[in-house]
Amino acid sequence: MDEKFLLMIPGPIDFDPAVLRAMSAKTLSHMSVEFAEIFGRALKNLRKVFLSEKGQPFVVAGSGTLAMDMAIVNLVEPGEKVLVLSSGFFGDRMADIAKRYQADVTVIKAPIGEAPSLEEAEKHLKKGGFKAITATHVDTSTGVAVDVKALGELAQRYGVLSIVDGVCATAGMEFRQDEWGIDVYLTASQKAIAVPPGLALMVVSERAMEAYRKRRSPVLNYYADFGLWLPVMEAYEEGKVAYFATPAVNLIYALDVSLQQILAEGMEKRFARHRLLAQAFQEGIDAIGLKQVPVRKELRAWTLTTAYYPEGIGPELLKAIKAEGVIVAAGLHPEIKDKYFRVGHMGTLTAGDVLTTLGAIERALASLGYRFEKGASVKRAQEILCPT
Ligand code: PMP
Repeated sequence: MDEKFLLMIPGPIDFDPAVLRAMSAKTLSHMSVEFAEIFGRALKNLRKVFLSEKGQPFVVAGSGTLAMDMAIVNLVEPGEKVLVLSSGFFGDRMADIAKRYQADVTVIKAPIGEAPSLEEAEKHLKKGGFKAITATHVDTSTGVAVDVKALGELAQRYGVLSIVDGVCATAGMEFRQDEWGIDVYLTASQKAIAVPPGLALMVVSERAMEAYRKRRSPVLNYYADFGLWLPVMEAYEEGKVAYFATPAVNLIYALDVSLQQILAEGMEKRFARHRLLAQAFQEGIDAIGLKQVPVRKELRAWTLTTAYYPEGIGPELLKAIKAEGVIVAAGLHPEIKDKYFRVGHMGTLTAGDVLTTLGAIERALASLGYRFEKGASVKRAQEILCPT
């Protein structure tokens, strides 16, 4: 296999070699104190990455969809009302999950490229009776970022639980769980957390754990039940062991290494790096005349870019970019799938990766006959990356 390519899809991303090496260390017994020390440190550090002091972390083998599943099934009982804000494919998935667990679901669906209206959400909440409101921090199908801080305020004001899908945002987009009052922030390992796929992660507020304890009916999914995982998470954090279902030992090693790297960079610096690199990339894309899916600049995610193909060019662009050594992703939103492509920029990303990707996109576009000012995207990105 040719390993010399840059993986610029919205997860899995290019992983740090130290994180990958951690995966190949000898597998310890999950019931050993040595493993408890590693897992315990990872749980404590997860709280720091989410900027939550008292939230309860859960790390479970599975993907991001399991994390969505867990949040809903534990906090919403059959018949309870949920308000789902959908900014694309993954918002719609959250609605499907809530329906599957027999919730009474209201969906506010944003037009493609827009964020769901919080004013409209408030109108629904005013009517009362909602248990939870959900949103997707960055919907990976549209590249639209939602104002999660404002969502937290709204949810707190109306006394409903807030559940935010951070799969394409966590550890890349600014997020402050305690300060913003978000009850569940959930994610997966393979994006800005920068660990190979296979872990569902979340931090749950004290208020949401209290709501869980007050449930009147059993959780409809056995593996996902907070109550079965809680003693395990608590034990590992205290350096002890407990068993419910076997943890993904080697992925936890990798998580431990990556979270230490993330905290060594520092959350404020990490947010600022993602913001700057996203701006450089996105303004580079603007400079060569490609239209982006988010309808306003302030809706653009810091973790990925979604851009429409120019007139006369389609998904063959992906192959042409690949031939230049960079892998980007196809469209995902069913309504515009063949009209746009997606570029992930998160986690281990450097300024060099941004320039490499823009250069590859330019060469690919040129090879397909698109006419533009050569070097314009790289030039614009450089102006942002080295302003003085
Ligand atoms: N939510 C969002 C925003 C995502 O981007 C994804 C995955 N691309 C998921 C949920 C589902 O995660 P997974 O594919 O790991 O199940």
